[in-house]
Amino acid sequence: MEKLDDALQEHYATVLSRNPGEREFHQAVLEVLESLGPVVHKHPEYLHQAVIERLCEPERQLIFRVPWTDDQGRVQINRAFRVEFNSALGPYKGGLRFHPSVYLGIVKFLGFEQIFKNALTGLPIGGAKGGSDFDPKGRSDAEIMRFCQSMMTELYRHLGEYTDVPAGDIGVGQREIGYLFGQYKRITNRYESGVLTGKGLAYGGSQVRTEATGYGTVFFTEEMLATRGESLSGRRVIVSGSGNVAIYAAEKAIQLGAHVVACSDSSGYVVDEDGLDLALLRQVKEVDRQRVSVYADQRPNATFVEGGQVWDVPCEVALPCATQNELDGAAAKVLIDQGVRAVAEGANMPCTPDATRLFQEAGVLFAPGKAANAGGVATSSLEMQQNASRDSWSFEHTEQRLQEIMVGVHGRCAAAADEYGQPGNYVAGANISSFLRVADAMLSLGVV
Ligand code: GLU
Repeated sequence: MEKLDDALQEHYATVLSRNPGEREFHQAVLEVLESLGPVVHKHPEYLHQAVIERLCEPERQLIFRVPWTDDQGRVQINRAFRVEFNSALGPYKGGLRFHPSVYLGIVKFLGFEQIFKNALTGLPIGGAKGGSDFDPKGRSDAEIMRFCQSMMTELYRHLGEYTDVPAGDIGVGQREIGYLFGQYKRITNRYESGVLTGKGLAYGGSQVRTEATGYGTVFFTEEMLATRGESLSGRRVIVSGSGNVAIYAAEKAIQLGAHVVACSDSSGYVVDEDGLDLALLRQVKEVDRQRVSVYADQRPNATFVEGGQVWDVPCEVALPCATQNELDGAAAKVLIDQGVRAVAEGANMPCTPDATRLFQEAGVLFAPGKAANAGGVATSSLEMQQNASRDSWSFEHTEQRLQEIMVGVHGRCAAAADEYGQPGNYVAGANISSFLRVADAMLSLGVV
């Protein structure tokens, strides 16, 4: 990875001092700024117009209390966030995450990434992220519903199809979006489908939204491999995680002829040399909400490794689809030594800066999350399109649109990398291409 250009040192120092302790946010900003040296030298107007400072300062940050009552009648208090980062390209757009690790620094890192990811899709969406330190693990359906209702009771006043459109992320799936939408509708007395995405198909959701992030990651991987005359067919693939992104990345990889042999969750990982049985995995994780060890118990040739790192499993393609900083330099070395050829981030920032650098130095094809996982939010934007026109598209049509969008994302990254003299560097390409789109819109809109 490049070093931070002298022209941008001061900007990064300002981000550090204005946002103390927000480690993940610092990491996300540095990763983008490291790519922008040549851009600001070629276009000094971005510096003169303080575009970088404006981009690093969210337009609006909301922090609020979420009180709710658990099944034992005890009052519980959580903290929730919505960071509306940048609306130069469209209404704020980005998911909500429910996880005990959520604090302002996580939401800001995710919101910052979202600006560039959304820009890369070519669609008219700004960047935002939200969430809560609420831990859904072990909570009943009724508790989840009360929590979502209480959260929306504050959040609704900040949302709107032309203002801010949340969706899911870790811990927030179709069930939670349903409860949030129900409460929004009740409070506002408006059936405003376009205010949330990731909805169920029965009430304005889009085909392929559930599959979109995982499918998109694999479409991007296939494009990347094609630049070297390769493809996923016959490749040995591992995914990390076993949520929405991981399951559907595995599904599309299998459809394209890959052999997907491992996945994981926070308890450890599973290797199944017969290839993952996705129907069983879905039952265990999505329906029964159990650990992956339960999957291994039911498969003859699967083993569960408690507490282990899935990156120890030899593979040719690795798809980190769990969470930030889950793949560090040591894990990257193991993957490289065992012959990995391509790594695509299905999750947001799963590779540490060290890991990314090692992959790039070793000549491994590496796709950063803001490019590789853009299919999720892109399909959210397709859901908004369908809602706005009161239409619903077929699975085939929607999947085709998703694939075209991912081919477009890949093309933009590759073209920017070439133009700035770093062919094959998807990190630089993604950062430069998306920055240019957002920065030019910001310049056009004036100092607002
Ligand atoms: N949370 C997802 C992401 O990281 C999806 C956001 C959305 O659909 O708005 O991009």
